Parts: sequence; structure tokens; C-alpha cells
Amino acid sequence: MIVAAELSNQSKPQYAQVAVPVHLKKLFTYRLPSSMQDAARVGSRVMVKLGTKPTAGYIVALLAQLRAGTSLIESEIKDVEELLDVEPPLTPEVLEITRWVADYYAAPWGEVMRAALPAGINAAVEQNISISEKGRQLLRSAFSVMTEEPARVRALRLLAEEGEFEINAFCLRLGSKRKPKWLSELEDEGLVERSYRRSIATRAKKHRLVRLIATDAQSAKTKAQQRIVETLSAHDGIMPAAELSRKAETSDSVIATLARNGVVETFEEDVRRDPLARAVLPETEDLKLTAAQAAALKVIGGRIKAKVFAPILLHGVTGSGKTEIYIRAMRSALQMGRGAMMLVPEIALTPILSRRLRAHFGEQIAIFHSSLSKGERFDEWSRLRSGEAQLVLGTRSAVFAPVNHLGVIIVDEEQDASYRQEESPYYHARDTAIVRAQKERAVVVLGSATPSLESFHNAKSGKYDYLQLPDRVGKRPLARAELVDMREVFARRKKPIVFADELLTAIAETHARGEQSIILLNRRGYSSFILCRSCGESIECPNCDVTLTYHRADQTLVCHYCNHRQRAPSACPACGSKYIYYVGEGTEQVEELLRKRFPQLRIGRIDRDTKSRRHEFEKTLLDFGKGDLDLLVGTQMLAKGHDFHNVTLVGVVSVDAGLALPDFRAAERTFQLITQVAGRAGRGELPGRVLIQTYHPGHYALRHATAQDYQGFYDEEIRHRRNHGYPPFVSLALLLVRHKDAARALRTAQHLRNSLNQANKDLSCRILGPAPAPFARLRGESRIQLLIKSRSRKQMRAVIDEAMTNFETAGGDVRSVTVEIDPVSMM
Ligand code: ADP
Ligand code: ZN
Ligand code: ZN
Repeated sequence: MIVAAELSNQSKPQYAQVAVPVHLKKLFTYRLPSSMQDAARVGSRVMVKLGTKPTAGYIVALLAQLRAGTSLIESEIKDVEELLDVEPPLTPEVLEITRWVADYYAAPWGEVMRAALPAGINAAVEQNISISEKGRQLLRSAFSVMTEEPARVRALRLLAEEGEFEINAFCLRLGSKRKPKWLSELEDEGLVERSYRRSIATRAKKHRLVRLIATDAQSAKTKAQQRIVETLSAHDGIMPAAELSRKAETSDSVIATLARNGVVETFEEDVRRDPLARAVLPETEDLKLTAAQAAALKVIGGRIKAKVFAPILLHGVTGSGKTEIYIRAMRSALQMGRGAMMLVPEIALTPILSRRLRAHFGEQIAIFHSSLSKGERFDEWSRLRSGEAQLVLGTRSAVFAPVNHLGVIIVDEEQDASYRQEESPYYHARDTAIVRAQKERAVVVLGSATPSLESFHNAKSGKYDYLQLPDRVGKRPLARAELVDMREVFARRKKPIVFADELLTAIAETHARGEQSIILLNRRGYSSFILCRSCGESIECPNCDVTLTYHRADQTLVCHYCNHRQRAPSACPACGSKYIYYVGEGTEQVEELLRKRFPQLRIGRIDRDTKSRRHEFEKTLLDFGKGDLDLLVGTQMLAKGHDFHNVTLVGVVSVDAGLALPDFRAAERTFQLITQVAGRAGRGELPGRVLIQTYHPGHYALRHATAQDYQGFYDEEIRHRRNHGYPPFVSLALLLVRHKDAARALRTAQHLRNSLNQANKDLSCRILGPAPAPFARLRGESRIQLLIKSRSRKQMRAVIDEAMTNFETAGGDVRSVTVEIDPVSMM
């Protein structure tokens, strides 16, 4: 790997090694023109040509000379075209952690660096099109114009009259969404030219201010000028130009005249786009810590002070006051002159939490998550980069935030699957946070009411410190979860129903008491498994301990890990019942049913569809918090983190869909879900109730969850993991092959399997598959997967690297393969 500083002090850098955000693992070397040699910094962005295409890249090393033994030929090295930064946006710490991510997760470094910067700061490359001299000549010749295709002439005229266009805008202007074929022909014939230009997507927003400098009576000569001077005086002698001319009812030219006469001066200033500019902040209370909180905080504070890497698992039941500990841990980092980072899994958690933290920390905290506008994102990021803010609250990508002197990283709900990015670069923000803390000698606090099996295992084996908050603040009782046995409901009613009477009655009663309810669906859209409505069994793979998936086309059940296949039975193999069914209702249908049944209730809905509309999503949550809604229907994201004091009923419509997912973590996820759901109810003074509808009330995850027995669940689950070879006992990698053509996808997967077999000479890995992925066809592509298990992560990485290299050399289709190290969702 590359060492960042290879320069002695005297010699100027002649070359830059550049990582580009494309799907290439390689680094590229470019020559630095002498004009850039002084200013170039590691971590700065540059424009370079990749082939003939201009691309923005990141400098990862500066070289005084080409490395000995390099295969590069001096004359073939291209110049850096442009240096985009004076101050490198990537700090050495961020550069370092992105490099680790690239190495560990087998991702291109440039892609990781791009993910590390706010969307707005990455330079995009615009393609522009303009008419050439030859094109103009054509237009001047009447004969050519007559004999040409009218569309071509119209396009050339447009370019001649209006000048250069961005290519997509040009196509739209021509009334076509796609690029017409003849446009490339015009280009080939040299009638139009294409050029590339860098577009800076976002920069600091400026506004112009006017300041009064001469105040004597003669300075203003006209009425308008007088009004300006008066208005300014009334505003402490300084105000934005736009506001000034509006208030003084004058034009901008009056200000200009006054500026020329030395009466006022104008200057520009950055305006901050603050995501919480108009938010109402809650009161901050000075709470007296409980004994358990104080003890936990003492350990965390001590570790921060010691300036050593310290991973800590904070295991606290819901409502035990973890957030209060997070806030104080960040405060103590600040007091020691260090920065802090708090990661949360979902944007659902940020509207309320960000207000709470802003109330505590004011301008010292930057809010950093994916649903901010580009401008807001850029500004919040800049405040951190400049050191104006020392704290950050954010979702996954905030793990790359440029926090200086990092003292503590908090990962709330550490078990949450959304810490894993489900597209390239695939990284896990929790695991990245741990490594970042290690590199920067910081403390990392993993907080959860239901730690992941992996983290709890690490705590038990002494790898992590373990801190526990066993009780809710004020000894409020935890809500008890009750199971509603849908097998009985089915036997009574003789048809599948969505809501059991118990749940409907509970909703009505809750409303009658003036309290609120939450109704959860476990997951949407995935229903191809078989479940017996009489006994609740689903059918599992004999080898892999995961549910088999039903393939309607050939009526078979398939294992997505090992490709085991068997015929779909017509009766339940466990009890002989004929009532075997698929499960799954969407949130919309459930909302619909509830509205019909309870027309008097004010009902809101939250799911992936509403999530993309940020404001609606935020508003629904805030309305519910204020009591403007009686009932909220949603997917599992509703189960997390919220602190609604008036919610006393939570109903889970179908927990079985989640239990039966073909994922070895299905039981763990379900256990976590129920524990969290129970944590949503009864957070205020009122006791809460949780009703879970299931066809499988005997399942160990449900049994332990309703008994609120984490340890009991852990002991049982860890046995399964050990017996069947799953994390934390083995490392996993998931290789996914995607292609439009199903046969081609299968061939590629088989080729990949052969390459893996060859690389796996010492048999350090177990290779499963090719098998169809759980979503065997998605967005028009066939998906086939291979699963790799190994006791040694290092050897597993070596096998994958060697296999991928051989696969590529042998002409394998690398572009259709994605490699996921430590996959979180097996879906
Ligand atoms: P968690 O994050 O563990 O679920 P929270 O931090 O949200 O729990 O705390 C639950 C509730 O208890 C919140 O309303 C919070 O304001 C309150 N709380 C936390 N610590 C204390 C304390 N020491 N004294 C009184 N109330 C507290
Ligand atoms: Zn059965
Ligand atoms: Zn299997």
C-alpha cells in the first residue's frame, strides 16, 4: 500500500497518485505541472483524464520521482488537469479510514472517498455540446440546409443561436429524453463538438452586506440616499443588501452610488444553510443521573481521559437513559478539548434527537445525514472541517465526518442492519467506527437494548468493556409482550384474518383512554415461503438452518445458501394440515383496514414509500409526538428509538414473515424487533401493552422476547450459530452475480465457483452455491449468489482476492459480480 508522505522536505512533488471513484481497484499516476507542485496536497481533489474522459479523483500520495521498478513509461504519463482544492477536504484521519474500508471491504478506494464526502462537494463532470466551425459552414450553405435532415438542421441552428448546451439539457430541448442517434453522427462528422467541464455542485452560499462608514449629514445627497442611510442606521449600520433596498424602497444602484462616494461599503459573507434554522428546540433539563447511569458514565469518561482505544458495549434496556449518557459522554470529550461523533441508524431517529442535541450543544454540533439538502449538507460538513463544530450527529456516512481530535464515537442501536451500506462501497458503519476509534485512540460506545450476537460475544470474551443498565429510569416497568396465537384464531374463524379480535379491542380501548397506538408490520413484499396456519411451522433446509423459499414456477422449495431443492408439499410435513399459506400484507392495506374499522381515529402511516418524502415523514412523526394522530401504522423502522410518552399499545401484525426469512439472522432480528417494540410502549407514566400476532408462538425467539430474557435468547442462538457455522464463529462473504441474461448469470457464477475452488487449495474456506439469491430476479436481472464461510477472515480475504484476480484474467465478467464482506442482510 501507499505511504502518504514519500517526500523529503526539499524536493517538490513531480507526480501524484490518484484514486478515482470508478469501479477500478487500481491507483493512477499523473504528472503535476509545476504550477501545482506547491499547492498539491494529499487528500485534495484533482481533475484528471481517465482514457479520454475527464474524471475527478483524489490525491493519495505525492511522489518526487517514479518508484523504482515501476512499469510506467514517462512519456505516457498524463498531466493533472486541474487542482480543485487549496485545503484538502480529506483529512489524514479520514484518508486513513477510507483506505481501511477499501482494503477490508474489497472496494475501490476512490469510491470510498467519494462516499466519505458530502454529495455537494464532489465535482461532477458535465458534458457540453457546441457547434463546430464546420457546422456553421453547413448552416451558411443554402444547398446543404435544404438537403439535410430537418432534425439535424434544427439541432445545429439551436447550437448556433444559443451557444453551448449541457448534453442532457440539449436533448430535452430537442424534445427527446434519450440522446438521438444522429447526434453522435453529427459529432462523428465533426459538425458538433463535445467538451467536458467540471461543475461544482455546491459551494458556500454568499450574500452581500452593506455597512455604513460615513455618518455625517452631507453624505446622503438625494432622498433615496437618505432613506438608505437612515435604514442602515436603524439596523446598527449593517444589513444585507437585498433587505436594505427593499426596506428603503430604493434600487441597488443607489447603494452602488453611495459605495462609490465612500458612504457605505459592501462585502460578501457566507450564509449558513442550517437544517434546524426554524426548528423548535426542546427544553434541556439538568437530570440527576441514576446510580447505574453514573457508574457507566464514570467508566466512559475515564477511558476518554486515558486517551486509549477502548471499545465499550453499553447494554441498557429501552428507557434506561442511554441517550443521557451519550450526551454527557460527548460533553466530557468536549471538556477535554476533543471531538465526538454520534451515529444513529435511521433518519427516523434524527428529527427529535437532533433537536434535543442542538438544544444541548448549540452550534457545536453539526447534523449530518442523508436527507439534508446538498447545501445544508455542505455547510454542516464545512463547519466540522473548519473546526467551528466539534461534534457530529449523523447516520451511516457520518462515520467519515472530519471530526478533529476524536475523543468518543457513539453508535446507538449498534445491532441495526442499516449501518451496513447496501451498495458499493459496502461498508459497515459500526465496524468502521470501531476501527476509526482504534486508529485515533478514541473510545467507542456501542449502545443497545438488544446487542448483536457478535458484540455481546465480544463483550463476554473480554474484547469489549461491558456496561449494563438493567432498569428503566424511575423503575418504570417494561411493557410486557403478549403473543396472540393466530392458529387458534384460524381454527375458530376458518379463514386467515389480518387482525385478531384481541388487537382490535385493545386499539379501541387505548383510544377510549385518550392514549396512542402503534401498529407494526414486520416487513413488506417478501412472501415466498410456506407457513402452516394450523401448526405454525415453516420448512427449513436440512443443511443450513434457514427457511426454504418457495419457487412458484416449478413448485419447489429452494435453499438460498446451498441450493438444496425439494418439492413443495401439499400438506404440512409437521402436522399434516392442508392449510399451508404464504404470509405478508403491506402497510397500505393494513392502514386501509384500520381506517374502515376505526373511522374516528386519526391514522398516520410511515414506511419506505413515505420515507423518501422527508418532510411528510418528519411531519407524521412530529404530529404523532404532539398527539395530533391517534395511531401510527408502519414498518419496523417505527420500532426504533422513538420516545413517545403517550403510546401504551403496540401491535405487531405478522411477526412470522420476519421469522421465516431465508436469513440466518432471522431469529435474532425478530428478537430485537420485539424487544424494541416493547420499549416503545409505556415510556411515560402510563403502563404499556404489546400484542404480537403469530402462528408460531413456540419459537424460541418469541419465547425469550416475551420473557424479556436477552441472556436466554443469546445462549440458545449462539448454539445454533456454533453448530451451523455462522458468525461470530466464522467470517462470511457473499458474492452476488447479476445479469439480465439468466443463463449468462449462471455461467458466470459457475466460472466464479471454479476460480474460488482453485484459490481454496488449502480448504480454509467453505464455499456454498451457486444458488439463486432470495430475490432471484430484481429490476430485470437474474441474481445468483455464492456464500463463503471461513474460520479465518484473513485467509478468506486472500482466497477471494486470488479468485477474483484469476477470474478476471481468465476473462470472467467482473462487472456483474459484487463482493460483500461480512454481509448483514442475507436478502
Ligand atoms: P434509552 O435511550 O435508553 O431508551 P432515554 O435516554 O431516551 O432512554 O431515556 C428514557 C427517558 O428517561 C427519557 O424521557 C429521558 O429524558 C428520561 N431520563 C433519562 N435519564 C434520566 C434521569 N437520570 N432522571 C430522570 N429522567 C431521565
Ligand atoms: Zn402444520
Ligand atoms: Zn441449505
